[in-house]
Amino acid sequence: MRKTVSSLISFLPLLLLVQHALWSSGASDKNKSMVEQLRRYGIIRSSKVAEVMEAVDRGLFVPPGGSPYFDSPMPIGYNATISAPHMHAACLELLEKNLQPGMRALDVGSGTGYLTACFALMVGSEGRAVGVEHIPELVDTSIENIKKSGAAPQLNDGALSIHVADGREGWPELAPYDAIHVGAAAPQIPEALVEQLKPGGRMVIPVGTMFQELKVVDKKLDGTVSVRDETSVRYVPLTSKEAQLHAN
Ligand code: SAH
Repeated sequence: MRKTVSSLISFLPLLLLVQHALWSSGASDKNKSMVEQLRRYGIIRSSKVAEVMEAVDRGLFVPPGGSPYFDSPMPIGYNATISAPHMHAACLELLEKNLQPGMRALDVGSGTGYLTACFALMVGSEGRAVGVEHIPELVDTSIENIKKSGAAPQLNDGALSIHVADGREGWPELAPYDAIHVGAAAPQIPEALVEQLKPGGRMVIPVGTMFQELKVVDKKLDGTVSVRDETSVRYVPLTSKEAQLHAN
């Protein structure tokens, strides 16, 4: 009996290691199948987008109790949600040409930090990925999430940063941007964001209140701006911190 107990104790670290390995391979397998599914449905077409979504495990960004690999938005507290995987994939696809290595990307309403992390891997260490979020607690959690993810090196070397600010003003310090993503629905397209778009740059932004359209805003090289509707969507509002926290 004593022998069994002592051999169990000596195997314990190994058992824990195996359990840990099984658990982590489970998570990354689930993330991989989610990406494969999005590919099968034609939402992901670019292999670079697939590679980046595989490298950033969504499971690290969805709060405990949520279903990170399920294709649906999930609550993240503070009357906010992490967008559904198909929306993240669709936005990465729409912005892919503006997320080439060395380019600059701004993620307004960065929430969990998931998409900012994907942007950082798209633009690489020579590029810049900036998240702006007005709830300080979400900014803190997003930084913790990113530290555990495939984008940790970019966070460490300063190519990725997240700031507490009102995203309607953008982040002028690092403008102009090749890509701007807005993760919350604005009543109109904020002028400051159009200004911070580089000629040749693209912004993807949900616009509307009850009924919203995902708009694609392209700034041409001569500075003229074109806007088109991509699809109908449902996002939380891009608003003041007070209005968001006192909603419902
Ligand atoms: N794209 C993120 C979060 C989407 S929810 C993700 O998928 O994880 C929209 C986010 O926008 C919320 O975190 C909300 O707090 C933030 N937000 C809303 N209005 C904002 C504003 N004026 N400035 C900055 N962030 C804002």
